[in-house]
Amino acid sequence: MAQKGPMITRTAPTWHTQDWQNQLSNAISSVAELLELADLNSQDLPAQLKAHQDFPVKVPRAFARKIEKGNPRDPLLLQVLPTHQELNTVPGFGNDPLQEAQFTPVPGLIHKYRGRVLLTTSTTCAINCRYCFRRHFPYSEHRISQSQMDRILEYLRQDPSINEIIFSGGDPLATSNTRFGQWVQQLEAVPHIKRLRVHTRLPVMIPERIDSQLLNIIDNSRCQWVFVVHCNHHNELDTAFHQAIKLLQVRNVQLLNQSVLLKGVNDNACILAALSETLFQMQVLPYYLHLLDPVAGAAHFDISETRAQSIYQELLGLLPGYLVPTMVRETPQALSKTPICPEKQNVS
Ligand SMILES: *Cc1c(COP(=O)(O)O)cnc(C)c1O
Ligand code: SF4
Repeated sequence: MAQKGPMITRTAPTWHTQDWQNQLSNAISSVAELLELADLNSQDLPAQLKAHQDFPVKVPRAFARKIEKGNPRDPLLLQVLPTHQELNTVPGFGNDPLQEAQFTPVPGLIHKYRGRVLLTTSTTCAINCRYCFRRHFPYSEHRISQSQMDRILEYLRQDPSINEIIFSGGDPLATSNTRFGQWVQQLEAVPHIKRLRVHTRLPVMIPERIDSQLLNIIDNSRCQWVFVVHCNHHNELDTAFHQAIKLLQVRNVQLLNQSVLLKGVNDNACILAALSETLFQMQVLPYYLHLLDPVAGAAHFDISETRAQSIYQELLGLLPGYLVPTMVRETPQALSKTPICPEKQNVS
């Protein structure tokens, strides 16, 4: 199968599948434990904390260790700590902000944009991000069984305009290598598929996920690969992440990053610039900076579009163009992400 020219020596990871699977199943699952690890007690925090039953606390330990101790405003902590504000009902923030149902011709497949389809391949993630736009997603209806995969393949075969598959989720890498490898093999058998893109937070959360079996899948693939990782703040990036993505980069996997603009986490041009700089040291290019999707329970992360535009304007003044992510909003009916332009420049 390998069609990537002569075998070259490739660096191999020193970790094993068991390592990441253990970390995945041993994630922190209670506010109490999270606070203990962050050296905080609940008096440091506003009012009572209550995680929605259908969106529990879930934080990999490696991520929790990057939280600054004793800082209730730590940007990593804020991404994972439930607050009472999640229970607020805010006009405009609903359960299905993207209204994707009409773009789902086959369960598990969203075909909204030309040339690419998004597969909701996995029902879980390594982490539960409190701002997640899929927090109310009916995953059980979207879990991909083999019979559904057969329907997906049938759909793809009939539409030669589709040349890219986006593995999304949940997190597509929260799945076993066996399952993931089977999907890849089946999808690649459709001749007009050229690119496989993986939207994943796992390399940042549990870098050991980039294990040798996964690398084998990539080595044996005829397609071009893109990994879009998801990192919101440079404190999330460390040497373990760097080591893991190097294993991908030597295999010519294109690494990109997407972030969500989040109040209290990264709503600041200097922080966003530091994120881009750190990513680029690891040869990851910033791709998208998403405005928050208006999902119920996440309104406390929202900032106004005007403020987003002024942050973006400032960011443009801090970085070379290639390190500025495109700021976008997801609009339910639009046929691409909608770029948000900076404010008109005030040249004084
Ligand atoms: C974001 C998204 C994509 C990918 O869009 P790109 O601009 O190619 O990154 C594809 N399908 C859906 C439904 C999406 O929401
Ligand atoms: S990893 Fe992505 S899909 Fe999963 S909870 Fe976080 S934002 Fe949502």
